[in-house]
Amino acid sequence: MTIFLDSAGSSLPPREVLDEVIGHLRREVEVGGYVAAQERADDLEAGYGVFAELLGASPDEVAFTESATRSWLTAFDAVPLAAGDRVLFSEAEYAGTAIPILRRAREVGAVAEAVPSDSFGQIDVDALKDMLDERVKLVSLVHVPTNSGLVNPAREVADAAHEVGALVLLDACQSIGQLPVRADDLGVDLIAGTGRKWLRGPRGTGVLVVRREAAERLHPRLVDLHSAEWVGPDDIRLRDDARVHEIWETSVAARLGFIAAARYALAKGVDVIEREVGERARRLRDGLGALPGVTVRDPGVRKAGIVTFTVDGVSAVDVRDRLAREGVTVTVSWASSTLLDMTRRGLAEVVRASPHYFVEPAQVDQAVEAVSRCAR
Ligand SMILES: *Cc1c(COP(=O)(O)O)cnc(C)c1O
Repeated sequence: MTIFLDSAGSSLPPREVLDEVIGHLRREVEVGGYVAAQERADDLEAGYGVFAELLGASPDEVAFTESATRSWLTAFDAVPLAAGDRVLFSEAEYAGTAIPILRRAREVGAVAEAVPSDSFGQIDVDALKDMLDERVKLVSLVHVPTNSGLVNPAREVADAAHEVGALVLLDACQSIGQLPVRADDLGVDLIAGTGRKWLRGPRGTGVLVVRREAAERLHPRLVDLHSAEWVGPDDIRLRDDARVHEIWETSVAARLGFIAAARYALAKGVDVIEREVGERARRLRDGLGALPGVTVRDPGVRKAGIVTFTVDGVSAVDVRDRLAREGVTVTVSWASSTLLDMTRRGLAEVVRASPHYFVEPAQVDQAVEAVSRCAR
């Protein structure tokens, strides 16, 4: 029996998601991919409404992609940036979004600057306010980082950024599926998310939300015959909804599974999920925190489902591997994934455990016992 504590990596999809994916692949074998997709056209279309409901947007503000990173890159690439512009990003930024910011800033002569964290480890909103001016075109914020339980105050960041007219791009890869993430509540302009983590969807699926007011300021460049139409010899017309950020080809089976995962989360209730994940994470944090030789490493005022820790004198890889032998699945998060945050906190690596609601409290206790055996 495994105790699965890696929903922040790639979670366990429920039966409904598996059936949808496999069912569609089987149908493609019978009638071919085009006919199979046509048969599910209404469900595929309804998927935009499902994600609109989940993410507090309208269906025309939703685009499907192949990953959170693809969503993020597509949105980022569409934000106009010129020499002298500034891009601000959070200290706990994921390397996968920090790298493109640094690269593009260097290319266009813009300035990329990290906003410091406050004493609780979350983005320092006062420091952000001091840094903001009209040259700031984009604030990139990680909602829940890859390497801790921290939840960043997205609403405060969005409100401050909007004072100077900057767009806010929220990396919600680790929050969608475990916390309420609603564009209307958070006030952010752009949201990138994945299927494979807390939402329990298939790998190779992602979503992008583009609020209508933000869309007018974007210049999507990665367009094809799905996102635009070739209307005359020299003339093209871009779609005017968020699907301008999609391209034509995709895994329809994975898309259907992704939609099924979102329906599943909505049926369970995002508030219920948040509470149940929060209870398990707290139980794990409390249990680990009481073990001699074990240090819980989660900063933040508000904490969510990711629990990180280190064990004195035992490397994170050794902890992971020893736990694996006892049937407990965790991962390691290295400094290179969140360089600024880990460097500031003097950490090279942490063990990451991320219990979803399907992990029984008794299993959490067993995992704590397994860690206590590593620490001895
Ligand atoms: C996993 C992760 C991503 C990237 O997700 P992909 O599915 O690999 O595209 C982005 N941001 C954070 C915080 C992550 O943990």
